[in-house]
Amino acid sequence: ENDLSRVVEADRAHIWHHLIQHKPFESTDPRIIVEGKGIHVWDQKGKEHLDCVSGGVWTVNVGYGRERIAKAVYNQLVKMNYFAGSAGSIPGAMFAERLIAKMPGLSRVYYMNSGSEANEKAFKMVRQIAHKRYGGKKHKILYRDRDYHGTTIGCLSAGGQDERNAQYGPFAPGFVRVPHCLEYRRHEQDGAPVENYGEWAADQIEEVILREGPETVGALCLEPVTAGGGVITPPEGYWQRVQEICKKYDILLHIDEVVCGVGRTGTWFGYQQYGIQPDMVTMAKGVASGYAAIACLVTTEEVFDMFKDDASDPMNYFRDISTFGGCTAGPAAALENLAIIEEENLLDNTNAMGARLMDNLAALADKHAVIGDVRGKGLFCGAELVKDRETREAVDEALVQKVVADCMGQGVIIGATNRSVPGKNNTLCFSPALIATADNIDQMTDAVDQALTRVFG
Ligand code: PMP
Repeated sequence: ENDLSRVVEADRAHIWHHLIQHKPFESTDPRIIVEGKGIHVWDQKGKEHLDCVSGGVWTVNVGYGRERIAKAVYNQLVKMNYFAGSAGSIPGAMFAERLIAKMPGLSRVYYMNSGSEANEKAFKMVRQIAHKRYGGKKHKILYRDRDYHGTTIGCLSAGGQDERNAQYGPFAPGFVRVPHCLEYRRHEQDGAPVENYGEWAADQIEEVILREGPETVGALCLEPVTAGGGVITPPEGYWQRVQEICKKYDILLHIDEVVCGVGRTGTWFGYQQYGIQPDMVTMAKGVASGYAAIACLVTTEEVFDMFKDDASDPMNYFRDISTFGGCTAGPAAALENLAIIEEENLLDNTNAMGARLMDNLAALADKHAVIGDVRGKGLFCGAELVKDRETREAVDEALVQKVVADCMGQGVIIGATNRSVPGKNNTLCFSPALIATADNIDQMTDAVDQALTRVFG
């Protein structure tokens, strides 16, 4: 009765997998994930896997099989599944209130369905504000080398990963790149100092602003910890300086919390680690842990106020409506997701287990010279693999994939889609559900230890 070979056949014949390049899945063959409970998933052969990437791309923050979320979604859908426009819904209003309580200084929530859509909406708001306030002039959006913001042409225009973007041009105009802040690779940046690197990296943003003309720059969009771009934790002194620069030139600070949002780094939001106050925040993955599609753009009341006159614009109603932003499954799931994090003290657990994971990774780095750097915040950690600690040259991707495949053979799914070096996915990523136990963390790093020994000796 458990023979899922027909499902596997259908999958092979018809599914266009997103991570078609994710070779480890090919080689060890867990083609279909059938079931999940807590931090574990089971494939079509009944094999158990410890999921250290929360559903592949850092999403399932509260773990699998949460009946209370499924029940809340069911109850909401049979009562009132959908209505869009100016009418609201009970879970929509209640989740917005709970969310805003976690985000002092912000006050308005716009619902959508994906991180890309939320970022696209934020970019459009910057353009609208430029037209409303500055005669269209202050329209440029700054984004950072190595950061990623989504799949649309707009988001890719703000994408700092050239090799990923290679086939998508031409891009939208008005997006301008600023340098990265990856301290481990500062030797690749002209003039980067050893002392006060964080301030220097932030000052590079100011240089771009001055070059472009501050009167043309509307917003700066950054990830709090760069995820796909290599698990880049910001250097000391960076964020404070970034905030000062934005204030100085009247530039909106847009933080992309699609990965870090809702607990991943050990605070509700990644930006809260650094004491900054954004004007716009986007979030998606962890908002409902993958139990329903939901994304939010959250803004200050000041940003909202700039759109007040839209009420008298007859075009406004249909101009920017998100059809499925009116689906109630998302906020119904998000409410339970948030309650679980609170009731189970998952932020505390994230901090404790994140610290254990970093300790374990540091011990692995002592043992394996191939680990050049370990970085992380909460349960979002990475280990960058290099051929040589002096030159810091990235290891060949085929070897990284061997490590991932070896772990998968051991029943441990880790990630290696993080590119600290353009074109090389050379940073192993560890981002388990926030419910991870000490045993889970140790199993994860033990598997990596064995894999590194087998692949690199
Ligand atoms: N921003 C960041 C930082 C992301 O990592 C991603 C997805 N990996 C997105 C935005 C896009 O989100 P989505 O896939 O929900 O469109």
